[in-house]
Amino acid sequence: MNKDIATPIRTRSILEKYGFSFKKSLGQNFLIDTNILRRIVDFAELSENSGAIEIGPGIGALTEQLARVSKKVVAFEIDQRLLPILSDTLSPYNNVKIIHKDVLEANVQEVIDTEFANIEDIMVVANLPYYVTTPIIMKLLEEHLPIRGIVCMLQKEVADRISASPGTKDYGSLSIAVQYYTQAETVMIVPKTVFVPQPNVDSAVIRLTRREKPAVSVKDENFFFQVTKASFAQRRKTILNNLTSQLPDGKQKKEEILHALQAAEIEPSRRGETLSLEEFGSLSDALYDYFK
Ligand code: SAM
Repeated sequence: MNKDIATPIRTRSILEKYGFSFKKSLGQNFLIDTNILRRIVDFAELSENSGAIEIGPGIGALTEQLARVSKKVVAFEIDQRLLPILSDTLSPYNNVKIIHKDVLEANVQEVIDTEFANIEDIMVVANLPYYVTTPIIMKLLEEHLPIRGIVCMLQKEVADRISASPGTKDYGSLSIAVQYYTQAETVMIVPKTVFVPQPNVDSAVIRLTRREKPAVSVKDENFFFQVTKASFAQRRKTILNNLTSQLPDGKQKKEEILHALQAAEIEPSRRGETLSLEEFGSLSDALYDYFK
């Protein structure tokens, strides 16, 4: 087997060879611990028939571990300076394709159609750039891509919010948005010492397993998300106050909002953070006819 990229010595020698300097603005914190990488890959449960999509391969530390256990890896990298490095470090692997693109601008569905034509099981596996963690995760979920799930490293604080349960301080519109599409679990807490350079925040790995059907069935997905965002606009306010101040013409439609809360069997004095996904589903359906 080839020497691992993700050791402190090998990583340093690659960075020196190419005179590479980290761009903080691109969230460049590279992993230098092979054990952590193997564990991330294990959580993705890939087989030799699986496809892996990576976001931000860096110098290829995770990419090579994915290439060893899957059929094909497609990785999106925004930083052009990394392209010659990747073609060097990943030269032993013939099942890797690097796409030089901002993943937020990419047509991922089209890439799946062309690159994974004969592959049914597709996972996204990544050590995400922390400045865009949430937009990347939401893009992957909202585009209804044919993926089994996502295993990714991100800020622990965001991982806590994503996997939070109702009634906890971390529970909010992000928990609902992600849990609507997936089953979310934090599977590993990761120390700063396994990165170079070390990030300022603590990190965690989450596993998101896409649900066959969304967690609740609602009349209008966009309106459901609008209602959940409105409900958390000011955490200390009651659900009634948040809805009247945040929904369009909410103040004039207070009576209608009260009716909808009653129909959904939700006390107007409760706070958004106490409502389950099912309750938000009933509430958004009850409000729908008044607002749409
Ligand atoms: N996978 C490598 C590792 O674990 O060592 C590097 C991970 S580093 C946290 C994030 C990577 O994402 C960097 O290589 C960075 O250049 C890249 N990146 C940042 N923003 C991106 C974007 N919008 N689209 C694609 N790649 C991006």
